[in-house]
Amino acid sequence: MLQNIRVVLVNTSHPGNIGGAARALKNMGLSRLVLVQPLDFPAADATARASGADDVLSGAQVVATLEEALVGCSLAIGTSARDRSLPWPMLDPRECGGKAVERAGMGEEVALVFGREHAGLTNDELQRCHFHVHIPSNPDFSSLNLAAAVQVLAYEVRMAWLAAEGAPSKVEKAVDASELATLDEMERFYDHLEKTLVDIAFLDPDKPKHLMARLRRLYGRNSVERTEVSILRGILTETQKVARGESHKRKD
Ligand code: SAH
Repeated sequence: MLQNIRVVLVNTSHPGNIGGAARALKNMGLSRLVLVQPLDFPAADATARASGADDVLSGAQVVATLEEALVGCSLAIGTSARDRSLPWPMLDPRECGGKAVERAGMGEEVALVFGREHAGLTNDELQRCHFHVHIPSNPDFSSLNLAAAVQVLAYEVRMAWLAAEGAPSKVEKAVDASELATLDEMERFYDHLEKTLVDIAFLDPDKPKHLMARLRRLYGRNSVERTEVSILRGILTETQKVARGESHKRKD
């Protein structure tokens, strides 16, 4: 589905930025780069900055006009480093990622269009795009390096794609919800923990302070699995035995 998203660079002057963009695309799982009249390409600087994304670079399509670059696209999103006089439907980078993935997922061809290092995109070029996207940078220093801007938007595309694929972007998501400890199991654990802390004289029942609340907050920050609760309770049981002088383990 990411194959349906192309990144278009218009009149890039520095080949290093083309290489940097190729690398950014490959890092984020994108592969289609279209260059509209680059000033200097192919070039050693581009290959050096691509550092390994040579396949994206050598597969880059070089065309003469933006019109050609947009052939087959039903959605084009143009980037803008600053406010333009003509108001246009605007997206923030997150919305841009969401829209690009949504439409690409429907089998549509999508283009993200980037401008020249010194002058950006012309109004005419921007008006060929359905939406504009602005990376909300410092208003007093708003223009990012071209390859850096490509990286930001490619990252948002990846995040939207991961969410759409239901792929685990966080470790917690890799845990099946049915394996997580239930609230009542956690209550039994906290009860066991409190008794054990009293047994080993870490907790004074007359002056409990906020110890249990803090421990609840600590465990509550994590998604604790049922098997993990069993391990913790096993540790508590053995700790209680040692505290009572009943431990038969480690006789050495
Ligand atoms: N002086 C130009 C800046 C161009 S920066 C101008 O004022 O327009 C080169 C390209 O990087 C831009 O055309 C755009 O594609 C991208 N870019 C840089 N900063 C950006 C930002 N804050 N939001 C969106 N795109 C940005």
